[in-house]
Amino acid sequence: MSSNNGSKQKVHYDCAKCPAYCCSYDSIVVEKRDLKRLARHFGIDEETAERRFTKVVEGENVLRHQKDKFFRSVCMFLDTKKRRCTIYDARPGVCHEYPDQPHCGYFEFLKWERGHQEDPDFVPMNRY
Ligand code: SF4
Ligand code: SF4
Repeated sequence: MSSNNGSKQKVHYDCAKCPAYCCSYDSIVVEKRDLKRLARHFGIDEETAERRFTKVVEGENVLRHQKDKFFRSVCMFLDTKKRRCTIYDARPGVCHEYPDQPHCGYFEFLKWERGHQEDPDFVPMNRY
């Protein structure tokens, strides 16, 4: 989720070279504190933020989606051309933490596919 790896740990992925696969996850959970941050960011109340930006899936508030050319759909806050989060400083905690380890499985897959295709910009169209 376009993580900036806030820790000092060396990471082996580069979100700047990725089409933001993790922003296509169906259930990007929005906690109460995330709603507060989103509401503050947009200058609206929490109820409005909840209604505008989230939907309920299996009892949890998750970010709404928009259509996408690479993945079936992605988070409503992804800039689908630049493949960047448009609310980076206000993104939910789960986006901030992801992938929470030195490797990102999708990035490994992407690197392998790009090497195989001999195309540094190749994006597999199938879901991972
Ligand atoms: S899928 Fe991995 S490399 Fe791509 S944006 Fe998400 S964390 Fe970054
Ligand atoms: S809020 Fe930003 S980082 Fe999180 S899923 Fe949406 S676009 Fe990706």
